[in-house]
This record gives sequence, C-alpha cells and structure tokens, in this order.
Amino acid sequence: MLLSLLAFPGLAARADDALSARAHYLANAGVMIERGDTKVLFDPLFRNNYNQYELVPEDVEAALFAGAAPWDGVDAVFVSHYHGDHFSPEVMLAFLDARTDILLFAPEQAVLALRSAGAAEETLERVTSVALQYGDVPIRQNVGDLLIEAVRIPHSGWPDNMADIENIAWRVTIDDKTTVVHLGDADTKPLHYELHPDHWHGVDTDLALPPYWYFLSPRGRIVLDEHIRPDHAVGVHVPAAIPDEPADRPAEIRGYDLFTAPGETRDIRED
Ligand SMILES: [Zn+2]
Repeated sequence: MLLSLLAFPGLAARADDALSARAHYLANAGVMIERGDTKVLFDPLFRNNYNQYELVPEDVEAALFAGAAPWDGVDAVFVSHYHGDHFSPEVMLAFLDARTDILLFAPEQAVLALRSAGAAEETLERVTSVALQYGDVPIRQNVGDLLIEAVRIPHSGWPDNMADIENIAWRVTIDDKTTVVHLGDADTKPLHYELHPDHWHGVDTDLALPPYWYFLSPRGRIVLDEHIRPDHAVGVHVPAAIPDEPADRPAEIRGYDLFTAPGETRDIRED
C-alpha cells in the first residue's frame, strides 16, 4: 500500500483530505479531538464535579490510562486552568507517568501544582508551561503536525471574581486542516476578544467548545458570532441535570448543540 501511494502522490493527498476529524466527549469540559493518527485532549482529568457536573466515567479514565481505543495514541493534552472541575495535578501526573509519550501544555499555575504533586524533572521535560498575562500577545507554536495557539482570557466572573486564575483559550490546528477552539471557563465579555482581532479574525475555526452558558448570554453570542466564528459550536461544562435528549431540555437551550453524555461524538466538518 505504501508503494502504491508513493507511485500516485495525488492519491495520497486525496486520501488525506478524506480523513475525517471527530470530537469525543469525556465529561464536563473534557474533549478529545481525533484526526487520522493525531489525537489531542482538552481538560480530560479532574476529580471535582462540585456536585453539579459529570465526572469522567471510571472505565473511560481507565482506558485513557491504558491507551485503549478510542483513547489510544494521544499526542498532547491541553489544560485550560487549575480548577478542580478541569484539572487534577495528581491524576495528570499519574497519566503522564503512565503514557510516557504524551506532551502536556498548561498554564503556569497548573504546572506549579504538578511540581508540588511531585512531578519528576524527566516528566516535566514533556510539559510546556504557558505564562500569559491578560492582554499579552497570543502564543503560537508548531509541534509536529499541531499548530498550537494560546491566549489568556480571564475566568468567568472577571473583574470581580477569579481574576487571578490563569485561564487559557487554546486553539489547536491538526495537519493544517482541523481547527478547534477550547475556552476553558473564559469570561463572556467581548472586550477580551476585541483585544486580539488579529488572533481571532481571518481564521477558519471548524469547531468551538465554549462553556454552554455562552449560548445563553448575549455577550457570549457576540463572542461566538463576531470573534470566534466557528463552523460549529458544541457547548460543554453542562450541568448533569440537563437531559441528554434535546427535546427534554429547557426551551432556551434546546436549539444548541451540547455535549452531555460521556462517550458521545461529533464528526467535524472541514471546509
Ligand atoms: Zn473554573
């Protein structure tokens, strides 16, 4: 097969174009994006549901640790911020020690917590600590077939609450084809996004994963419609009380796509 692809490079290119990308829901704000052999995770390992959100099912977390399908071959993990419903330093450390080829990208506060949890220097060599202040120019880095971009968007509640929490909005592009935005618990005020027009505009984002309250907030709608402008958005961070069946949901959120059932997937359209 390899020989025939080499003999017909056009075929190889078409085969690559035909690769589909898919989002797999873990729980809360935890999502895996898969494109071909490349897989990245956002906010996958946490232990606190604040009695309100879904936890990652034990069998799913065990499969992640074991590298069992579909959670096998993960290349990189991205953490939005150090809050118990997005990141557990102890569990993440155990995961990095179990899957020794995975890279981690996380805000400085989360990496400091990883150090406090006893991370070895050898483990930390696979960890990229992102130190971004509010208003800083976004970071941009190519790693293998990933284009990784990060910008600090304050945590929900800004400026009165949790302004000290380093919340990173990640934008990851796989193979120059599939672009996904994960916001963590980013505040909905458009002014945060207006600070970085060059970052947000002119980019074809295939999928955005905002906290579901972006759909319910006029300001959140402006951020999605005028700044991030994704081809599709799936809300995450949905309370467990929201029914899986869209028809059973409260009227104001019935029209939006939400991740509510761990393990569910969405195909990502690329165009
Ligand atoms: Zn938070």
